[in-house]
Amino acid sequence: MLCFMPGALDMAADVEATIPDPGPSGLSAAEARQRLERCGPNTIARQGKSSLLVAFAANFTHLMAVLLWVSGVLAFLAGMPELGVAVFLVNIINGGFSFFQEYKAEKATEALLRLLPQKAHVVRDGIEVIVPAEELVPGDLMILNDGDHISADARVTGSFSLSVDESTLTGESRPIRKSPSENRPEHGPEESHRESNLVFAGTNVVSGRGQAVVFATGASTRFGKIAELTQSIVDEPSPLQEEMKRVTRTVSILAVGIGAFFFVLSSVLGGGHHLEASFIFAMGMVVAFVPEGMLPTVTLSLALCVQTMAARNALVKKLSAVETLGCTTVICSDKTGTITQNKMTVLKVWTADAEYSISGTDYSPEGSIDADCQDPDRTSLTRALVAACHCNNARLLPPHKETDRDWSIEGDPTEGALIVLARKAGISVDSPDVLGHRICELAFDSHRQRMSTVYDIRGKRVLYLKGAPTRVLDRSTKICLNGESVPLNAGWREKILEANDRLAGQGLRVLALAERQVPGDLEHLSPGTLEHDLTFCGLAAMLDPPHEGVLEAVRQCHSAGIKVVMITGDYGLTAESIARRVEILPESGKVVTGAELDAMDDRELAEVLAEPVVFARVLPEQKLRIVSVLQTLDHIVAVTGDGVNDAPALRKSDIGIAMGIAGTDVAKEAADIILLDDNFASIVTAVELGRSVYANIRRFATYVFTSNMAEAVPFVVSFLSRGAIPLPLTVMQVLAVDLGTDMLPALALGAEPAEPDVMSNPPRDKSRPLLDRMLLCKALLWYGVIEGLAGMLCFFHFTGFAAPAAASYQTATTMTFLGIVMGQIGAVLCCRTVRSSIFSRRFFANPLVFAAIGAEILVLLAVMYLPPLARVFGTTPIAPEMWLFALIFVPAMIVLDELRKLIARSMR
Ligand code: ATP
Repeated sequence: MLCFMPGALDMAADVEATIPDPGPSGLSAAEARQRLERCGPNTIARQGKSSLLVAFAANFTHLMAVLLWVSGVLAFLAGMPELGVAVFLVNIINGGFSFFQEYKAEKATEALLRLLPQKAHVVRDGIEVIVPAEELVPGDLMILNDGDHISADARVTGSFSLSVDESTLTGESRPIRKSPSENRPEHGPEESHRESNLVFAGTNVVSGRGQAVVFATGASTRFGKIAELTQSIVDEPSPLQEEMKRVTRTVSILAVGIGAFFFVLSSVLGGGHHLEASFIFAMGMVVAFVPEGMLPTVTLSLALCVQTMAARNALVKKLSAVETLGCTTVICSDKTGTITQNKMTVLKVWTADAEYSISGTDYSPEGSIDADCQDPDRTSLTRALVAACHCNNARLLPPHKETDRDWSIEGDPTEGALIVLARKAGISVDSPDVLGHRICELAFDSHRQRMSTVYDIRGKRVLYLKGAPTRVLDRSTKICLNGESVPLNAGWREKILEANDRLAGQGLRVLALAERQVPGDLEHLSPGTLEHDLTFCGLAAMLDPPHEGVLEAVRQCHSAGIKVVMITGDYGLTAESIARRVEILPESGKVVTGAELDAMDDRELAEVLAEPVVFARVLPEQKLRIVSVLQTLDHIVAVTGDGVNDAPALRKSDIGIAMGIAGTDVAKEAADIILLDDNFASIVTAVELGRSVYANIRRFATYVFTSNMAEAVPFVVSFLSRGAIPLPLTVMQVLAVDLGTDMLPALALGAEPAEPDVMSNPPRDKSRPLLDRMLLCKALLWYGVIEGLAGMLCFFHFTGFAAPAAASYQTATTMTFLGIVMGQIGAVLCCRTVRSSIFSRRFFANPLVFAAIGAEILVLLAVMYLPPLARVFGTTPIAPEMWLFALIFVPAMIVLDELRKLIARSMR
């Protein structure tokens, strides 16, 4: 048994030559298992991850941490070892906590990788099965389909128009044609002609189909050698994280600046007498203002939101997508599979002989076919259904008791529905009508809007074709009437178009079926030589109902100021009917076809986009153009896609959303978000979550800055009194507020459920910074000042507005500390809502806030009543009457803020 070993890149061709072809039945499951044991899984270790130790160290060496280290050292030098130790402790606790949050965030993101395992189609024991890509082994017979990601290096042994995009490996963006090569190449592996029969891991099939024998897996593949390509989840920081970094840095430098300024000022003014007090003041400013825990908390909130989104079927690949989602102003959505379920059931068949109604639901082949007139022989119907079965790559799978699976299909649901229909008529893939050898396939793509196959049937070559009715009609010259081909005159054309519009107008997806005898001597088999002179056999109209919840999701978008534009490859009338049903298209809205779109310039398109609109029979390039024009109108555009050709639009949009079930690997790679259930409603849920996580980050940012201001107020008061009032809060007590009582409530605010009006407001302006003037004013000049005043009032209540006697200094500072903590408790409750009253929502909706307040009180009591801690923090137990006075500041903060919110609401 051969395994392709690392370091043998230039031996690739030699090795592929030595892997024997397993034959059409592929490997046996047992053999595959043995090979997996011998060669190991087909995986490549993630590269470029810094080690845990480096990540840990980073939390103690960034700018803010260095500032605190320096402050600590200065405290020691200034002869204040207790303060020095405390500052060091702050830094250590902070760093440890930040590391823990980062680690948790990283684990959350990594766990998502497992939600979307790469899969591969292989033939094992003669049956085509889907296996996790990591279980591919050398010798496996892989089946390659349009849009598949290739997960191992392999030799092509069969193909139908197979083209592969190798740009990830070679930078060459032109698709490379691949086919089995009879002549073994003789030159180096870098030459493309040599590799035209080889496909490589990390590349994608852009069109056609094929099969290939794996010759290298895992680290032995060419892809495995390119370490930096192995990350599939991008770790780049989101704009919010960047902003947080910037803000934290600016605030820290500002705090140091202010501290240094006052230090110099008071040293100069005081002639050096107050040097110690000035130094402590400067330190207090630094410690109070440096918002140490902010960035890791943002990262963790985003990562936890990503986890929640995954649980709600939206898998986010980049943290930045979470934020952008919250700003989305337009969602451009496909119809088939996103708005609708992509579960097709043929309800009507039209032929020149009769129109048939089909009963039965889902993919169960039980149901009746009733003609609207006498048609005992059903010869035309049979011909149409034979064409449908031959021009088909889907498989009907019977119910499976063990997995509780009902009748299901493998492959394209449109094709699956046709197989089910044929079975209802008694025609199956192995019935005598559907036998023969497939000579070639001209694959479906959204440009051609059709697909055809050529079969050798008892020595005759027959072409079967299906596709969009007008495309098929354009290529037909005959029609099947009573089982015979007769000329297709203008009358028949009109009847076909009328039937098509009537069925499409009911929201049904209509496909035409046709066939043709191909001359036996035709050499070049291509669309040009094959797809003409067809006999039109009939129309099949299928129901594809909207997903559950789509109507409500569309309504939510409307109330959230988000425009929904349907962009579909399907026929206008079908698209219109569905769009009206789910309220994407109001009475005033219109349908624009791809052809009409081409005739418009960008200005006209912008005008159309200002109104409700559905685009039908649109090509992927046109989708790209719609996205670009929307972006020039300053829209933040989310766009859905599933096919290979959707990749450019997915990349161009602000949020690319790929379908997890029906989407190709190519689309998934290009997207920022993958929908695990392909449901439009999940996009709207993700938008809602994106909006609420942003609101939560604003909540805790407000709260964190609030406490920073409150801690600074006593220092300023003391400074302004020019020493007449000794520091009402010691630096140690600042540390206690900063770490002990501040941290958990801030975190708890990050878990606040969405406010009920989160989807009733227009989208946020993406260019507006998180820490805007409003937030800072509210945090610093409102909550911060009230908290600070609460502290000072407690202080003065005890001292009777005079400087405290030396003996009672500890009690006085303890009172300030207590007052600030009471203000904090009020503030954390107030920060839960922006404008609405905190009593207007379920008060206990976020139990974490109450747990955090509980923890805050415990820390407070410990700091005041445990003698060792009380010694360190310079606190002392206080009388019950003093407690009562301080407690007033919890309701006082709430009452004041409720008044502010009331005024804010009345001014809207
Ligand atoms: P959407 O763009 O919303 O996903 P769609 O699936 O109809 O809608 P395309 O996949 O671009 O869009 O298909 C365009 C048209 O091609 C369809 O309306 C149908 O008429 C035809 N078609 C779709 N699937 C097949 C197929 N497997 N074989 C032949 N013709 C097809």
